[in-house]
Amino acid sequence: MRILIAEDEEALAKFVRQGLEGEHYAVDVFSDGEQARVAAAENDYDLVILDLNLPKLDGVSVLRQVRLKKPSLPVLVLTQRSRVEDRVQCLDLGADDYLGKPFSFSELSARIRALVRRSHLPSENVLAVADLKLDRVERRVERAGLRIELTTREFSLLEYLMRNAGRKVTRSMIIEHVWNLTFDTTTNVVDVYINYRI
Ligand code: CA
Repeated sequence: MRILIAEDEEALAKFVRQGLEGEHYAVDVFSDGEQARVAAAENDYDLVILDLNLPKLDGVSVLRQVRLKKPSLPVLVLTQRSRVEDRVQCLDLGADDYLGKPFSFSELSARIRALVRRSHLPSENVLAVADLKLDRVERRVERAGLRIELTTREFSLLEYLMRNAGRKVTRSMIIEHVWNLTFDTTTNVVDVYINYRI
């Protein structure tokens, strides 16, 4: 599962990114609104975390653009603007949730799970291939009833492969969905990870 973060406060973006990567999400951070708008339109994300005060293009404009192109992409607004009017405006423009700064990571994480759960059909939340089960919301993997601990990348890779079970996926498709955008695509990292578990 892949999350876009639009946040210009570097320390905060890093904190959220590390927390989410620790929960097995693939994360891309953009520090201005224009980059975030382009990335949201061009890539396949499961959720957007959007700051409102962003350079180049403000968060409200980003939200408006995202809604035009991706009506069902969940957007969680994360901001210092805590006036009721700001919240109302965001929700009216199509934000799915709203969290004021400062916030606790555990609350952000719970809200993300709730949004993701709502955005998929219940049948899409648990992937199953033979006796292997992967719960995309609870971030758990089991094989024949036994829990398997995976790293963030391993989890994302397995999720992507299970979502595409029976279909052919290329290395570059895997890198695009599992690693970050800035990743060097000439790398053999996919082969390395696949071989880990064989
Ligand atoms: Ca900001």
